[in-house]
Amino acid sequence: MRQDFPKDAILVGKDISAMQLAAMPLNNLTALISTSGSHASHVAILARALGVPTVMGAADVPVNQIDGREVIVDGYQGRVYLHPSRQVKSEFQRLAQEDAELTRGLLEQARLPAITPDGVKIPIYINSGLMADLVTGRTSTADGIGLYRTEVPFMIRERFPGEEEQTRIYQEVLATFPGCPVTLRTLDVGGDKALSYFPILEDNPFLGYRGIRISLDRPDVFITQLRAMLLANKATANLRILFPMISSLQELDEAMGLLTHASAELEIEGHYIPDPEVGVMIEVPAAVYIARQLAERVDFLSIGTNDLIQYLLAVDRNNAQVAELYEEHHPAVLQALKQIVEAGKSAGKPVSICGEMASDPISVLLLLGVGVDSLSVSLASLPRIKWVVRSFSRQYARELFERAVELSDPSEIRHLIRGALRAEGLGALVRSARH
Ligand code: PEP
Ligand code: MG
Repeated sequence: MRQDFPKDAILVGKDISAMQLAAMPLNNLTALISTSGSHASHVAILARALGVPTVMGAADVPVNQIDGREVIVDGYQGRVYLHPSRQVKSEFQRLAQEDAELTRGLLEQARLPAITPDGVKIPIYINSGLMADLVTGRTSTADGIGLYRTEVPFMIRERFPGEEEQTRIYQEVLATFPGCPVTLRTLDVGGDKALSYFPILEDNPFLGYRGIRISLDRPDVFITQLRAMLLANKATANLRILFPMISSLQELDEAMGLLTHASAELEIEGHYIPDPEVGVMIEVPAAVYIARQLAERVDFLSIGTNDLIQYLLAVDRNNAQVAELYEEHHPAVLQALKQIVEAGKSAGKPVSICGEMASDPISVLLLLGVGVDSLSVSLASLPRIKWVVRSFSRQYARELFERAVELSDPSEIRHLIRGALRAEGLGALVRSARH
């Protein structure tokens, strides 16, 4: 599906997939509305990464009768306004202008280091997948890439890219941040991320053949990818490799074994390859309980809250019908985060967070408080997130977190954090938080 969007286009569809979006020319895309899916669906994550307001699960929108109409898309509140009245239009024009001014105003400070007032450096990396989010010229505001979703370039091809093609893609990504860490995650297809040339048909895709499970089942595909990553690192020496969907120590050991195998092969072939750092995603509840042992085997942990929330709360991240239950401020989520950070600390390994929680101004204050070492966020949200980090001491954030975990109701937690943001003069961010 390739088509050029006219200026100010809004993409509206019943079931827009991440694969379809990745294949589109995105320069004129102004907003996206999907009648299915939810905030945490991959298509929504990709769109938001480009700063495109996105509303998912808008079941009432008459997809077939909307062409050519004027529509307002409020990506923050998740609302769509068809045929807006003059008053509604002017109210949203004012809000959009305020939003643009806030972003412009924050761009200057976004170039400053992400250090809290009590002197704690919290590197802020970006999440990427579409090259489009790396070419905005704003990458200098970030400390590197905390999550590059390698499945995205796989989605826009007609077959698995070979070693040379992958090496070129990864070299390009590693070269966007010379001297800074760039984290390439190994293939994470399955769930709501399909490859047209690798169909997977199953009743419960999020509980099925997904992520590292596929890589370990198809060592030919996995080793090609690992070799390409390692080869790409020859020039820049800034590679970190991240394994998704790990749920047991055996899986990690097997993945590490194949990585060692790929390195050894390249060495025998005469390549000198700098050793990459290796990390594991904590995004399956089982991994939370073995986080310490996992951390002992790798260089860093990275929390994938998008999946962790869906698996902890048994809420399909892609199902509009249960989207209200997908609650990132559920006390169980906060307790899990605490446990992961403690496990990382006791193993002496840094803990990062690359799920969408890190891109949300309310959640990020809780993450600062729970003690994560770094954040990986969408480039579009980076100025706001850096503003929070530069405004709140770790100590105060910790106190807020301790109070938050005592509260049983997520809306009380949000009330607490909103109050803290306002009191610190960051009230403008409250509107750009999702809730
Ligand atoms: C996550 O699960 O939080 C994550 C970052 O990975 P993805 O959204 O690609 O599943
Ligand atoms: Mg995930």
